[in-house]
This record gives sequence, structure tokens and C-alpha cells, in this order.
Amino acid sequence: MSRVFNFSAGPATLPESVLVQARDEMLDWHGGGMSVMEMSHRDKDFMSIATTAEQDLRDLLGVPANYKVLFMQGGATGQFAAVPMNLLRGKLSADFVVTGAWSLKASKEVTKYGKANIVAKPADGRYNHIPARDGWTLDPEAAYVHYTPNETIEGVEFNWIPEVGQVPLVADFSSTFLSRPIDVSKFGLIYAGAQKNAGPAGITMVIVREDLLGSALPITPSIFDFKQVADNDSMLNTPSCYAWYVCGLVFQWIKREGGLKAIAERNQRKAALLYDCIDSTPFYSNPVAKSDRSWMNVVFTLPDAALDADFLKGTKAAGLPGLKGHRSVGGMRASLYNAMPEAGVQALVDYMKEFARTHG
Ligand SMILES: *Cc1c(COP(=O)(O)O)cnc(C)c1O
Repeated sequence: MSRVFNFSAGPATLPESVLVQARDEMLDWHGGGMSVMEMSHRDKDFMSIATTAEQDLRDLLGVPANYKVLFMQGGATGQFAAVPMNLLRGKLSADFVVTGAWSLKASKEVTKYGKANIVAKPADGRYNHIPARDGWTLDPEAAYVHYTPNETIEGVEFNWIPEVGQVPLVADFSSTFLSRPIDVSKFGLIYAGAQKNAGPAGITMVIVREDLLGSALPITPSIFDFKQVADNDSMLNTPSCYAWYVCGLVFQWIKREGGLKAIAERNQRKAALLYDCIDSTPFYSNPVAKSDRSWMNVVFTLPDAALDADFLKGTKAAGLPGLKGHRSVGGMRASLYNAMPEAGVQALVDYMKEFARTHG
């Protein structure tokens, strides 16, 4: 068996020890004689897997007691609709900070249910920085303020949590969930698709303050009604059982690695290693303002796009796949999620230096 360093933006690399454990437990989970995939979600074995995963996630993030943790389906894109259906609560609009492709998409989906008020957006249309907070004009009557802490496609990340007064703050954490500690009490709602940094595709975590529940629009599908999902412990219908289980293994892995503080330090080192290479090698460039560079998704370009194919052929051959940038941005993107070891980033940096030397 030979495993590569997978830089894909999502679905993405998982900790090898988690995959090994899932393999070892595949046919017979804890002596019960069946796979987690085969268990009824009402079975007490699966219930213990589900509640342990929730508790571990609560421990990692320090989720306050007045927040519900939901395990849903439909991805972050499902939440682009579920959040307004649940959180508009009779109000007419929500405020959106647009910093890249994902926050733009979220703001567009809302318009089926209410108005999206764009409070900040780069004037030149280039998503290469986070607009400063003092330039945002927030509406005190907004149902909530939505932002995207990490823009997966452009590699732009908030390194601060916006202050928005009494209006609930909502964040699409998908690509930076569990990359570092966060103060959950500053948020009304956090959501994250698992397949970037927390597990396999098919499950979406929602952490929501209890007082925001119970006012969903009448048209809200039951499976997207946060109150109904919460009242049924995320088992209103059959959940994504296997993905839930693997997420639970990932949460335990993060605990073993020392928790989110230790993970954050490692993530910062990994990002610094790659950005240092980009900044110190004139061959490469990154368009993002230094203070707003993502730890999770590092974008970079070569001096001539005609070299891209060669670069990617070489990385693939070197066991470094998944580096092609998003089609809307071009160039390269290295996703450095929690499960990417420092050795993987070092291997990429070594390759990049050699490529620059031979093609510069
Ligand atoms: C990947 C991603 C999404 C879309 O996630 P799906 O689970 O495919 O719906 C939304 N927002 C961000 C920030 C993402 O990285």
C-alpha cells in the first residue's frame, strides 16, 4: 500500500489512523458482528456512536449548554437554504459579507426566502482580502449577519470574528471547521459540511443557539427544520450513519493530537512553510493580502499558465495530487486541512523549489 499526500479541497485527506480504525472495525464493530453501515440508527450501539461523537465535538469546541449540535444532510449548500428558512423569523432580510464564491452563493440562495443585504464586498470585484469591519453598514433590523470565515476557492480567511452587536452572527465554517479553537458563544449559528476538515461527505454539522429555534417558515421541509431535528436528536429520519461514525473517529483523533490548540499551532506552521516558499521564490505568487491568507487553502500561480500542466503532471507523479486550482480562479490550490501532515507540506515545498529551479 502506498498513500499519497492528497491536497484536494474536498472531499479531502483524512487522518490515516482514522482510516485504519474504520478498516479494522469495518466487518465487526466492537464485537457486535456487524458493520456500522449495517446498524439500525435506533440500535443502542449506533446511539452510543452518535452521542459520543456529539459529546467529543462539544468538548473540542467548548460548545455552551444553550446550543444544540445537529448532524444533518444536504451539505453546506443545503444550509444556504435551511438557515434563512429557520432564522428569518418574520424579518425581511439578512446581512451578507461577501468575500468570495461561497459567501456569494449563500447570499443568492437567500433571495428565495427574503432579501440579501450585501454589507461588504470588494469594490474591485477581486476576492483577495477581507473588507475591514469599519466599512460594513449593518442593518440593525437584519435577521442575522452571515459570513464565510474561510473562502475555500480564493484562499481568503478571517483571522478575527466580526463584532455585530445584538444581531445573531451566522458562519459557514465548512473549510476551516476544527482548524483552531473558536468562541462559539459569539455565534448564533455555525454550520459546516464535513468533507473538508471533519470527515467524509454526506453529513453537515450545525451548532445553533436554542433561542433561535422554533420560528421556521411554514414551507420549511421537516428535515430542514432545526427545531424538529433538534427535538429528534438529529434522527428525524435516517441520518448519514457511517459518515457520522467516521466524523466521531476524527473528533477522537483531534483529542489524541492535543485538541484544537495543538492542531491550530500545527496548521499555522504548515501554512507558514508554504507561504514562505511562495514569497521567497519569485517564480510563484499569491494574490491574497498577507493578513487574510488562509491556513487551509493556499492558492498560488506560476509565472505562465502554460507551465501549469507540467507542474501538475510532476506533482501527480511525485505523489502530491489534488493541486489544481478551482476552475474559476486557475493556478494551483494546496489544501492543508488538519489531516495533512507537515511532511506533506515539506514534500510540496521541495517539489516547488526544484520546479522553479528547472523552469525559471
Ligand atoms: C465546500 C463548501 C461549500 C459547499 O459544500 P457542500 O457540502 O458541497 O454543499 C460551502 N461553503 C464552503 C465554505 C465550502 O468550502
